[in-house]
Amino acid sequence: MALRVEQDIFLVRQRGREVAAAVGLEHQDQVRLATALSEVARDLLGAVGGADVTFAVAADAHTGQPTLRLDLAPARPLPGGRYEPQSGAVARLVDMLGVVTDGGDTVVRMSRRVPAHAPPLTPERLDQLRTELAASAPGTALDELAAQNTQLIAALDEVRSHRDELEVLNSELQETNRGVMALYNQLTEELEETNRGVVALYAELDEKSAQLRAASESKSRFLANVSHELRAPVTAIIGLGRLLGDSASDPLTAEQARQVGLIRSSAADLLGLVNELLDLAKAESGRLEPNWADVDLRAIFGQLRGTLRALATRPAVELVVEEPPAPATLRSDEVLLAQVLRNLLHNGLKFTERGEVRLRAEHRGDRWSLSVSDTGAGIPPELHERIFEEFYQVPGTTRVGGTGLGLPYARRLVTLLGGTLELTSEPGRGSTFTVHLPAGGA
Ligand code: ADP
Repeated sequence: MALRVEQDIFLVRQRGREVAAAVGLEHQDQVRLATALSEVARDLLGAVGGADVTFAVAADAHTGQPTLRLDLAPARPLPGGRYEPQSGAVARLVDMLGVVTDGGDTVVRMSRRVPAHAPPLTPERLDQLRTELAASAPGTALDELAAQNTQLIAALDEVRSHRDELEVLNSELQETNRGVMALYNQLTEELEETNRGVVALYAELDEKSAQLRAASESKSRFLANVSHELRAPVTAIIGLGRLLGDSASDPLTAEQARQVGLIRSSAADLLGLVNELLDLAKAESGRLEPNWADVDLRAIFGQLRGTLRALATRPAVELVVEEPPAPATLRSDEVLLAQVLRNLLHNGLKFTERGEVRLRAEHRGDRWSLSVSDTGAGIPPELHERIFEEFYQVPGTTRVGGTGLGLPYARRLVTLLGGTLELTSEPGRGSTFTVHLPAGGA
């Protein structure tokens, strides 16, 4: 077709649509192609005075799929050999739009794939289409305008139905959103409720432990007060007993002297108990503060060797205090540490019939191990923890006296000093109590 005057634009457009329909393009694509064609035709008429339009069917270079191809050979050379459609949207109406050079001729080409389900374009069918198109009388510009209007109305209609679909989709989406939000709110609420429960539980726990702490503190305070108050009268009883037996006092009968002796030894036992109770209560109430200093183990060991010899009254039992390895210093409280070791040695001597009680110090890395071992009766494994409870005494050992407060007190002091007190023992093979301490203090 020759495109030379404005009227031709309508004819070219009409033909384009007819050809597109004939080769099997879908209705939408027919309109798109015709529209693109009339736009390009208008551009070329204005820019280069027209073009020769050729409709052809070719196989796609890549896929081999049949493609409707429209070539517009410009009447005069394109300025700069280039062509850009006035409206950028035009290129989107077809698969391809651009300037190509084909066999020396420069043409503006546009193409659109023929759908796979269209009837196959055999040479016979193409001949038939060609004859049919040649026979159909070209319509007028007015006809084409009417057709164009119908197409526009259809397109607008389609846009509206798309919009309606979108609206439905939108409202569905909103509904889903509302559902998700409701679920989220419900979950958040449940989580908050659980949280509130946990918080309440913690508050209750805190309250309970505060109550326990208060109860334990008031117990310690009570013990400390009672034992403190008891000390003065018991000391008075001991003093009065001593006065009664004094040579300056009136002489007592043998029976009276025996009874006064009993009173004095009972009072001395009582004073011992009261003192131990007071110590333990003080340690437990946290009122006992270690007096940290560089402690010389050799001095402590020497002192213990001297004071405990008096207690080692059994000839069959030897008290051995080994010399600590140098450098025998650690950061600790000398008085409290001596008290612990004296307590353990005293127990050893009390519960050992024959053999020895031995104190030795070992230094490994930055830790000291001070152990008191004896060759006494030993302690059954199931009682290894119980003997550290207040007032607990292994059945059958009570006849040697004591209160059952020594070991719990010793363990508390060792804890205050930053260490641990442990026991290894087997019945019949003696016991070893070991104090583990950090050399640098707690
Ligand atoms: P106490 O010596 O005043 O009875 P402790 O708390 O020091 O109280 O000791 C608790 C109990 O542990 C003792 O009564 C005794 O039965 C047992 N025990 C402690 N040391 C030894 C030991 N070296 N050998 C055997 N039993 C011991």
